[in-house]
Amino acid sequence: MKGVIDLHTHLATLPTWIQSLVKFRNQSHALHNYLGWEYPVILNVAFYAPPYTSFNFLIDMIDQLQQQIQLHENIQVITKASDLERKFDLGLLFHVESGRFITEPKVQIPVLHEKGVRGLIPLHYIDNQFGESCDDPLRRFGLKTKQQGLTDLAQQLIEVCHQHHWWLDVTHSTDLCSEQWLASAEYVMCSHVGIRDRVNRARNKSLQFFKQLQAKKGVWGLSPWLYTVGDDDNAYLEQIQLAIDQGLCESVCIGTDFGTPIKTNQNSRDLKNIASQIQHKLANPEQILWNNAYSFFKRALPQI
Ligand SMILES: [Zn+2]
Repeated sequence: MKGVIDLHTHLATLPTWIQSLVKFRNQSHALHNYLGWEYPVILNVAFYAPPYTSFNFLIDMIDQLQQQIQLHENIQVITKASDLERKFDLGLLFHVESGRFITEPKVQIPVLHEKGVRGLIPLHYIDNQFGESCDDPLRRFGLKTKQQGLTDLAQQLIEVCHQHHWWLDVTHSTDLCSEQWLASAEYVMCSHVGIRDRVNRARNKSLQFFKQLQAKKGVWGLSPWLYTVGDDDNAYLEQIQLAIDQGLCESVCIGTDFGTPIKTNQNSRDLKNIASQIQHKLANPEQILWNNAYSFFKRALPQI
């Protein structure tokens, strides 16, 4: 096996609500789980600052992880295209989940860029200054139906992200906003999601959307969360097979969302397990496990 790339992982293992109570900044607890495998692993690590924290809290979280990484020779933080070619056991890319702290993209994106961040999930669980969330509780319960799509600030964000070679991640965006991000941004992914044609939830995206994403050289990661894939024992592999059957072989990837309190079935409870099943049971496993995500990062990251 060439290796495994996970499009979306949290290294913090405490549930988010505990993090918010104790202002838990240390993101390194799960690092050791990914070291010493027989093949290289690349994790696209999500930084999520819990409610009642601030932009500075986010910066502290990144600094703390960077300090932990210094203790390991075999971990490479990947911030530019050429870093992908280095030899490492564990490669880490950084992205931020929820853009609610980013009120001045022109000022704050460069600060995060300096810290090694290369991607952003602008929307999260409620609507914010960039647009609308498919997971907003008021929308999920039908109490909020009006949608205006992306805001002017989102357009500014797209420009700044483009200048810095950042990707935008449309997970948690409504369909309208996702289509608008895709139409305007250069590097787009949808990192932890399921196929709506199989499990009908606003959170999931349609095969039609994934086809548009693939046409723009974007990638998407299937999350093994029961909420996104359903609770059949083989739900995860079946959704990947469906993607392959639908011609999405060049864009489908893994995006676990591990490190958050998601419920999975026995067959898909850790990355090694998922990788092994894909390797043994599906055609073209290397494309799903490695090549698709690798090509995306090679193209999207700063070309130095
Ligand atoms: Zn998420």
